[in-house]
Amino acid sequence: MNESMNVKTGLFIAGNWVDGSRKETVFNKYNSAPIAEVSIAGPAEIERGLESAMRGAKVMAAMPAYRRAEILSATAKAIRRDRDVLARCIAAEAGKPIKLARIEVERAAMVFDFAGEESRRIHGETIPFDASPSGEGYFGFWQRKPIGVVGAITPFNFPLNLVAHKLAPAIASGNAFVLKPAEQTPLSAAALMMILLESGLPVEAGQVIQGDGAFVGDAIVRDARVGKLSFTGSADVGRTILQRAGIKRVTLELGNSSPVIVCPDADLEWAAKRSAIGAYAYAGQICISLQRIYVDESIQEEFIDRLKTAAQALVIGDPLDESTDVGPMISEKESLRIEGWVEEAQTQGAKLVFGGRREKSTYHPTLLNCATQEMRIMQQEVFAPVASIVASPTFAESLKQANSTNYGLQASIFTKDIGRILQGIREVDFGGVIINDIPGVRIDHMPYGGNKQSGIGREGIRFAIEEMTNIQSVVIRS
Ligand code: NAD
Repeated sequence: MNESMNVKTGLFIAGNWVDGSRKETVFNKYNSAPIAEVSIAGPAEIERGLESAMRGAKVMAAMPAYRRAEILSATAKAIRRDRDVLARCIAAEAGKPIKLARIEVERAAMVFDFAGEESRRIHGETIPFDASPSGEGYFGFWQRKPIGVVGAITPFNFPLNLVAHKLAPAIASGNAFVLKPAEQTPLSAAALMMILLESGLPVEAGQVIQGDGAFVGDAIVRDARVGKLSFTGSADVGRTILQRAGIKRVTLELGNSSPVIVCPDADLEWAAKRSAIGAYAYAGQICISLQRIYVDESIQEEFIDRLKTAAQALVIGDPLDESTDVGPMISEKESLRIEGWVEEAQTQGAKLVFGGRREKSTYHPTLLNCATQEMRIMQQEVFAPVASIVASPTFAESLKQANSTNYGLQASIFTKDIGRILQGIREVDFGGVIINDIPGVRIDHMPYGGNKQSGIGREGIRFAIEEMTNIQSVVIRS
């Protein structure tokens, strides 16, 4: 990968790729082969990065919208040109099956396409001041202005597209950025930075500062020069960030315990096939991976049979193999964690339908039956290829159980009944509800984000732009 693309392994600070205070090895997550030695930032590099970002903020604020649009469109084009190398980079460093990595690359290109379009239409409106007696004699408007420096902290599981979801709207709205990618997957982010520079991004506008979260991430979180923090990752880290950020805008895109409700009138074959993908693809390491399945008790057996057949058709193996659906988890530690959770659920009464097998960092697609609401595999985010099925006597009961979680990112319902669809939309307490598909459906320009412990704010280019800009009111005495 590195030979063909020459991905930079340094930090990008103040217009140059530089070495950090030390190096860390990035490994292939399937065979543990070393891929690259990347630089890790120390305090001096972090400081220089933040200083440079302040200069970049001025350059970006002065850049006309059409120029920002040109840079973003050129980036989308270059991502498509480099699609094969980028997909291989994601597959190697994140352990994501190559066919899913390709989808991620195309999605990232789309995000830049949309950001290019959105950058041309960021505007406010006039204010009818004379609607109030105190406003008589005034004329004016409100407008959106860039916040300045966006701090972007990203997780390992979408090392390109979730970086795109932060950098593209930041650039579209005239901000500079400081990016800290996940330590397990810094190469896709570096590759994107190279493309941005080639596409015309002013060198001061972007800084890429690798390192671990508790040190480099925390320094970005606490720094007052960062006006807006955009974080995607786990709820635990999100909570810490909120406590340490001080007064600045914060968007938190956190985890979920995604439920699906399968009604007796649903297309069961479709629901089962999609549920297998939703629960097990990329080893369940997607924030909206399917975790809890509530089926009407009249179809429980049939649904389990169909889900088992669909899960058995999934290919487990090397992410770089074209046929693979389920690769390794991000680390052996993570596969050991989920092995423990599944064993614990069994001691509490859950029944293993299939799976429950681990080979190093690969955990086989697993289904548990008779799970109860209090179990860890139901309440906490599993982030692994493990789903639990619960038979439910009524749709109302399924809805109640689907909602009985601290999370609230996305949920889904399979039914053809319009009454159930409307009731579901009304009662589901999640940021997104998907009808007749899995919770994992995310089209990149839709507003996306969670209720409750799943986060604060929304992404999806236009919505991220709103959160990366300040509204300024202009009042003119006429
Ligand atoms: P993580 O929370 O462990 O790490 C995410 C990022 O935060 C990394 O870059 C990490 O270095 C950094 N970090 C860690 N501690 C920090 C601290 N104290 N201060 C600042 N930064 C810190 O998450 P992960 O394991 O990389 O990713 C998986 C999690 O991300 C899951 O919970 C998943 O649901 C969530 N996720 C959410 C979305 C979404 O859009 N809602 C999308 C993808 C992943």
